Amino acid sequence: MGIEIPPDHPRRVSLEIREKIIEGHQASIVATAGLLAHGRGEAFDYFIGEATTELAERATRAAVASMLLARSPVISVNGNVCSLVPEDLVRLSKLTNAPLEINLFYYRKEREDAILKALQEAGAERVLGTHDRPSETIPELSSNRRKVDPDGIGKADWVLVPLEDGDRTEALRKVGKFVVTIDLNPMSRTAVYSNITIVDNVVRCMPLMVKYAKEMRSWTRERLEALIKEFNNSDNLRESIQLIIENLKQRAGNEYIAKEAFN
Ligand code: ATP
Ligand code: MG
Repeated sequence: MGIEIPPDHPRRVSLEIREKIIEGHQASIVATAGLLAHGRGEAFDYFIGEATTELAERATRAAVASMLLARSPVISVNGNVCSLVPEDLVRLSKLTNAPLEINLFYYRKEREDAILKALQEAGAERVLGTHDRPSETIPELSSNRRKVDPDGIGKADWVLVPLEDGDRTEALRKVGKFVVTIDLNPMSRTAVYSNITIVDNVVRCMPLMVKYAKEMRSWTRERLEALIKEFNNSDNLRESIQLIIENLKQRAGNEYIAKEAFN
């Protein structure tokens, strides 16, 4: 690790995550724009309270249920998720038979290679979306991310897109995929366009998805379906925004300011 963070530092966890992203950038895994995306996420995490909320738990359970019911699920991997949670990506992939597919907004062969290496070091046996693989295109998309792997996103009915861009989420919906996203900003276009949005940090959410996948794998179809039925994404997003408002109100209260101040 680049810097020593004192164990009692109030922003320790956040700073440690930031260090991982910086290291990922130095290893060519994370794009420079990925650093900015991370900063936007950090701000929303602060508003949420830097913990998994009950709302996020609920969305995670519905997401895992839909993943277990999918005919052909796939996990889309970009530089940020790869640098933050490579082991959990591999664990979830193996538990649910959902292949990992590298899909980059800012494509560079060097980045693809670095991500592939990191995933393999984390235990991945098969990674889709690499340059030596066949590809097909999603015509609804203009960037080079329109290229998808026919054995992955191409044939998938269900796609996990952690930290996604709004345009791509919309395109995936247009071609009929069931889209699940993890995004700290409940107001992003990605959050709004997805079928299920988990408003949480990927660092907390991915291990939780692994835990639920283990637990729910033995459930009956009916039980999984019931969980999805009772989940409403728009309501969950609205309540997530409400939660941010409540957190901010509390912070704006006199009591909080008095407690934190030095006088
Ligand atoms: P959209 O394109 O969906 O409207 P955006 O343009 O605001 O979103 P992007 O830069 O395209 O944002 O995508 C980054 C998104 O990822 C942001 O919404 C940010 O909150 C989120 N994000 C960043 N880091 C994390 C993280 N560690 N966990 C979860 N979400 C994150
Ligand atoms: Mg965007």
